[in-house]
Amino acid sequence: MKGKDRYPQLEVDPGKLKENLTALQRRCQASFVDLIGVVKGVNAWEPVVRVFDGAGLAYLATSRVDQLRKLRAMDVRTPLLLIRVPMLSELEDAVSLADASLQSERAVLRAANEEAARQGKKHGVVLMADLGDLREGFWDREELIAAAAEVEGELANLTLLGVGVNLSCYGSIRPDANNLGELAALARRVEAAIGRKLPIVSGGASTSTYLALDGTMPRGVNNLRLGEILLVGRANYGCDPDFTHRDAFTLRAEVIECRDKPSFPIGQLTVDAYGHAGHYEDRGVRRRALLAIGRVDYGDWADLTPRMPGVEILGASSDHTIVDVEAVKDRIAVGDVLEFDVNYASLVNLTNTPGVALVVKGGA
Ligand SMILES: *Cc1c(COP(=O)(O)O)cnc(C)c1O
Repeated sequence: MKGKDRYPQLEVDPGKLKENLTALQRRCQASFVDLIGVVKGVNAWEPVVRVFDGAGLAYLATSRVDQLRKLRAMDVRTPLLLIRVPMLSELEDAVSLADASLQSERAVLRAANEEAARQGKKHGVVLMADLGDLREGFWDREELIAAAAEVEGELANLTLLGVGVNLSCYGSIRPDANNLGELAALARRVEAAIGRKLPIVSGGASTSTYLALDGTMPRGVNNLRLGEILLVGRANYGCDPDFTHRDAFTLRAEVIECRDKPSFPIGQLTVDAYGHAGHYEDRGVRRRALLAIGRVDYGDWADLTPRMPGVEILGASSDHTIVDVEAVKDRIAVGDVLEFDVNYASLVNLTNTPGVALVVKGGA
């Protein structure tokens, strides 16, 4: 046991992260795809940022201005990209902190141009096309092309960097040769309208990586914005490479009670702490461990995977997690620490709450 450590604790292994990044970068480059490293999934946690910053990425990106501020305070070398279309009310910070942003409204582009002029800066923009996922992006292709021409010809303090798309976020649309082919075609039309090549044609997030890995990325798509797959080594829609680490992060929680109890609650069944009806299986009396970590820390317990075989999560409330340890009851006592693998959803929560100690493998 580690007496002086604080729990719950999330540990990052920068060596594994670096290996994930290098391996994905090399394979994507073979498909002529450059990478943007997205750090919002870990709240711009410094050891992760340092790994990304050392990798020669095109940009470091986050959705939030407060994280841009953290990144600036770290003195990163890589240019910064804001990947949530900025609020009009945050444009001053967005322009001063980010080198570039994703954009989908002409009013915001014009206001960003004025803000950049006021600050005496040039601000890069990537125009987003909505190709069916129905989150951000121009819906009308002609409007996107007109906006691109306006940025190029009239908004002197903006630099048109390119076009991009977001998929598999709201509408759960799979990135494929069809929709990414449309993006490439749209980029060619913008290039024809402005008379030069666009440096960035950004084909989405982690869920688009499989096209670069299996060599089917449509020609002309030359950029991906990756968070999840760099952090946890995989993503939905079949992005399950066999060369990435899935365990660059380790969650640790401490056992505060460990004893035999019935597995079916006693008394009138109503609803749990969150107002939901529970599902309980009567398996008789079994050894249960209570952990000092809960939904406030990680969100949904189904996003955690116990590392020790035989440990099974039964449920959780705000500050407690209950695990069945009957199969390993000789090995677990009060004060012990259990380890879990985390997925992207739980990482977002764990790195955004003050209750979790964030530590780096090997100290520092
Ligand atoms: C979050 C986000 C990404 C990165 O997504 P991952 O699934 O973590 O790779 C890319 N682009 C935009 C616009 C995003 O909001």
